[in-house]
Amino acid sequence: MSASSSARSTAPQERLELGEVGAELLPGDLCHWRSHRDPAGIVWLLLDKHESRTNTLSGAVLDELGTCLARWAPAPPRALVIRSAKPDGFIAGADINEFSGASDRSEVETRLRKAHGVVSRLAEFPVPTIAVIHGFCLGGGLELALACRHRIARPDAKLGLPEVMLGLHPGLGGTARLTALLSPFTALELMLTGRSLDARRAKRLGLVDAIAEERHVAGAVRAAASGKLERRRPAVSSRLSKFAPARRVVAALVRRQTARKARAEHYPAPFALIEHWHRHGGSARSLLEHEPASFARLLTGDTAQNLIRVFFLRERLKRLGRDGAPVVRAVHVIGAGTMGGDIAAWCALKGISVSLQDQRPALVGPAIRRAAALFERRLKQPSAVRAALDRLVPDHRGDGVGRADLVIEAVPENADLKREIYAAVEPRLKSGALLATNTSSIRLEHLGESLRDPARFVGVHFFNPVAKLPLVEVVSHDGADPSCIARAHRFVTQIDRLPLPVRSAPGFLVNRALTPYLLESLTLLEEGLAPETIDAAALRFGMPMGPLEVADQVGLDVCLHVTRGLREELPGPWAPIPAWVEERIARGDLGRKSGRGVYEYRNARARKQRKFPAPDPGLEDRLILPLINACVACLRAGVVQDRETVDAGLIFGTGFAPFRGGPMHYAETRGESDVVAALKRYREELGSRFEPDAGWEDEAGAE
Ligand code: NAD
Repeated sequence: MSASSSARSTAPQERLELGEVGAELLPGDLCHWRSHRDPAGIVWLLLDKHESRTNTLSGAVLDELGTCLARWAPAPPRALVIRSAKPDGFIAGADINEFSGASDRSEVETRLRKAHGVVSRLAEFPVPTIAVIHGFCLGGGLELALACRHRIARPDAKLGLPEVMLGLHPGLGGTARLTALLSPFTALELMLTGRSLDARRAKRLGLVDAIAEERHVAGAVRAAASGKLERRRPAVSSRLSKFAPARRVVAALVRRQTARKARAEHYPAPFALIEHWHRHGGSARSLLEHEPASFARLLTGDTAQNLIRVFFLRERLKRLGRDGAPVVRAVHVIGAGTMGGDIAAWCALKGISVSLQDQRPALVGPAIRRAAALFERRLKQPSAVRAALDRLVPDHRGDGVGRADLVIEAVPENADLKREIYAAVEPRLKSGALLATNTSSIRLEHLGESLRDPARFVGVHFFNPVAKLPLVEVVSHDGADPSCIARAHRFVTQIDRLPLPVRSAPGFLVNRALTPYLLESLTLLEEGLAPETIDAAALRFGMPMGPLEVADQVGLDVCLHVTRGLREELPGPWAPIPAWVEERIARGDLGRKSGRGVYEYRNARARKQRKFPAPDPGLEDRLILPLINACVACLRAGVVQDRETVDAGLIFGTGFAPFRGGPMHYAETRGESDVVAALKRYREELGSRFEPDAGWEDEAGAE
């Protein structure tokens, strides 16, 4: 009999093979694990983390594991299986709550050495140890599995070591056990990119010994217990690690490749990992010995703490729309241009039925071709691609309006045009349907003034490119029904994007903050600086792309339009818009989409001069401080509720240097008085557009 019926949190439809029920072990005194010995003498040790939907590795989970191993060591069972009793996966990684705020390096190191002790006891356990893996097996979860003699993966398993995304490297022995198993290139690549592998790829690389469907798990476990499951031998090339000259060559190469993607001063973890392997990779023992110190150094550093903050900011936004059943089954999108086409495609990709309408039917075809390319990239399986395409239908007459749970308008940024569309659409909406606009800057009060029922009108402001930027500003206004706003949040989560609650205001949060930054870069260009120099200053600060390249990507015409709209609504003072911007737009040089803007483009890539003057120290301030000043203005005006929302919006909507934890967090870390003093210096030198916002005083009061 399978013990699935006894799994505390296993959903009834999931029948996990948890071992034939025999004698129960460890009754009562453990909170996260339970276990039993099956009639064949195999012990099944099942992780079902208490009061948690997902298994994560906390200190308590590891302590209990240590207790079990210590109790069984004197009279070990025939074999030991480690498996999750939760349907959603094995172990999703370390319990990140325990990482947050860590500042005492030696305390972290001591904790880690204790955890290493438990994992080493598992690695040395005197009988076959077998990890049975389904779903997520990430970070510490994979490190635990690597300490077992065998790994059996279900086809849905996803294995990876994503610590680098939190500014860390593996810390539970993974740097030693992965490099012992795989070629150094593969092992380093997996740890440096943090990418995860599906079961097939993991098997091909030798990370798992076997793949078994759920119904074959018991058989695979029996085979492993009796020594009949062939164990993957370490890759021959893994021996390369033993030779210092080989490590030196590999480390130099990998360091060079890594430096092309990240700066050591911003993201030290990948470089620390390479260094750790370079110095200690000669033996697994040495890697194990030195791993805790390197990990503790990273964890207590600013980058890791800020990336952990970003992790929690993401979780916070996800929670906004998590509860309840999916609210939208059918979406109708009006406007098949840059945004409407891509929003429609994204919704269809995520399982929603979509009808797409444009006043020029000929424009729907290109949108569907773009969608097909997206589906092929993301879904790969031809049947899944076909199903997604079937969900996306051209709808020239707008028949989908009456069937849709949500109608999204994405026509050009013109209030009269948008209002005209609402007047035609509103009477045809089905009862309970939401009407949404993708406007990037017009206040919802203006757009919704002639609606019969403004309560169901909301903003869902996607960012371009939709498939790359995870943020959607969900815009509320005084007349909106809070339950409609809640449904909009739910919809955004349903399609795997992050909802950011903002109030209707010119430019909402992200465009309001980004515009002074982009304008300042244009002013610097006007002053004669090379575009490459200006963009390099932003990259040096940690932005993923320079402001001038961003302006080209968004489109100079769109930037100009948004800027003008903001200047009309907000008194300023603003940086002037250089005359050449309009001249270029008039010539058709709109940015990347037309092949030329600030830069020229070839194959959609900016052609930049390789040699250009390095930016002066402090040039970043001139770009970034206006952005932060605008964030403070948004907080003061109540566009967003709190600093965390500002930070999340700018990180997920613009890629604002994640390792700095967001603009408000950056200002706080640097010292708000220092930021205000720098703004005042610029005000004296360059004019009143640098006037510190009145909100800085509220911020100082709130500290
Ligand atoms: P676009 O010009 O690329 O597309 C607009 C589409 O609407 C065109 O295909 C046009 O034919 C169609 N259209 C015009 N009138 C129509 C009507 N009466 N009925 C049906 N279709 C009609 O514009 P876009 O860049 O996709 O912008 C759309 C909206 O999204 C705007 O409000 C814009 O501010 C906002 N937005 C744009 C971006 C961006 O980067 N482009 C980013 C975020 C938000």
